[in-house]
Amino acid sequence: MKKKIFNFSNTYSKLPETFYEKINPVPVKNPKLEQYNLNLSKQLNIDPKKISDETGSLIFSGNLIPTGAHPIAMVYAGHQFGNFVPKLGDGRAILIGELITTNGERFDLQLKGSGRTPFSRQGDGRSPIGPVIREYIVSEALHYLGIKSTRSLAIVSTGENVVRERLIPGGILTRIASSHIRIGTFEYFYHKNDLKSLNKLIEYTNQRHFSDKNGKNQYESLLKTVIKSQAKLISKWMGIGFIHGVMNTDNTSICGETIDFGPCAFMDHFNPDRVFSYIDHSGRYSYSNQGKVMLWNLSKFAECLIPFLDANLNKSRKKAIDCLNTFPDYFNNYWLKEMSRKIGISTAKKEDQLLINDLLEILTNENLDFTLSFRNLSKLDSQNTNSFFDKIKNKKKFGNWVDRWNKRLENEKQKISKIKHKLNDINPAYIPRNHIVEEIIESVEEKNDFSPMKNFLSIIQKPFINQNVNLKYESAPEPHEIVSNTFCGT
Ligand code: AMP
Ligand code: MG
Repeated sequence: MKKKIFNFSNTYSKLPETFYEKINPVPVKNPKLEQYNLNLSKQLNIDPKKISDETGSLIFSGNLIPTGAHPIAMVYAGHQFGNFVPKLGDGRAILIGELITTNGERFDLQLKGSGRTPFSRQGDGRSPIGPVIREYIVSEALHYLGIKSTRSLAIVSTGENVVRERLIPGGILTRIASSHIRIGTFEYFYHKNDLKSLNKLIEYTNQRHFSDKNGKNQYESLLKTVIKSQAKLISKWMGIGFIHGVMNTDNTSICGETIDFGPCAFMDHFNPDRVFSYIDHSGRYSYSNQGKVMLWNLSKFAECLIPFLDANLNKSRKKAIDCLNTFPDYFNNYWLKEMSRKIGISTAKKEDQLLINDLLEILTNENLDFTLSFRNLSKLDSQNTNSFFDKIKNKKKFGNWVDRWNKRLENEKQKISKIKHKLNDINPAYIPRNHIVEEIIESVEEKNDFSPMKNFLSIIQKPFINQNVNLKYESAPEPHEIVSNTFCGT
């Protein structure tokens, strides 16, 4: 490769070799660049003109290693459904290199589905095209909804089939992340009792993500920062009815981005116990458990920092617990702020929790669509009706709720008719609903047609603006269209 396409400056691959394995992606038979994210390309200062179909196909499949790249598979451990696995690592992903933008921002460019690595265990290192498409759509949707997430730069079809319950066309996703450091990365060294590497990882993380958190107090401030940013992230997920689906500690990014989209989903009708993963029998990762589970994950992170928080072990444990004890308040406050804004309240008060929960209870009892319910609040007229809410059976209860809501708004010298824009700016019209995502995947798998995906990607870039597009993109699924399970394609 003669011309330089990427401005790489790799730091992780310069860490000790205990952190990764140097390895190239395994080439594929017939790579084809199917999707390229022009907006993201520009943000990353990658000149799209340099990404011809041919060059893109070769680079984003891993068949060609670009100048300046240092491909590695990162090692990490993790608690999967509560059980500790001492060595996981990138089993089907390769970190190609770290991109530096003209603003000096640093992003990992990673290929996912790029072949076996020393961490593949029984896996084939590959991914079916379906989960690649789901991750691309959902991660981009989250970004445009204003939620921190890894992003998707490209999709390549491999020209090879992968073997799952049937033969499925394979795909490779190019993922962009602020980093791929996970809680599980810390757990890996902690459980090997390799405190030297663990300390190095902490210093590296602070330097890379939290440059103001170095110095004497760096361990405690790292813990505090991570706790706060995760509390915020989960409250954002709750606000849009997002269920991550597999919140294992290896799928929890240290920098507070949503990462590793497996059996994830946006809820249609509201049910706090909703789960989409077909293996999550106990509902560990259900919608309403996400806050609690994140606290559990953070407790695993805090454990890794105990050797450093204080020279005295008891004091160190106490510091860890004190930090963890701040999570519920952070989470509840962020949640309250997020949900209050969804009903147009600017300054949330503690009592608003009741108002919000009562609305959520109505949604549950009436089997109402989460996204549509909030979006339609702005359409309520002076008689408190609009066609969406007409189907409510317990009209009295809903009417009472609207009265209470009106009173609360009056309190802020507001009324519904005046805050319609405000409501629409936070309650999206377009989310990647499961049945739409499945329809898009089907069209690729069966007809090799990526045009429905491209069309939908343009819609989700403006989730809060009513667009003159097919109504199906903002509608709830018909009963026969409901998709109850999603898969990660491992
Ligand atoms: P996940 O739950 O998808 O985030 O993956 C958990 C672990 O399994 C990670 O170490 C992955 O790299 C690994 N893994 C998942 N799918 C595959 C695959 N098809 N081949 C090899 N490793 C995989
Ligand atoms: Mg993972």
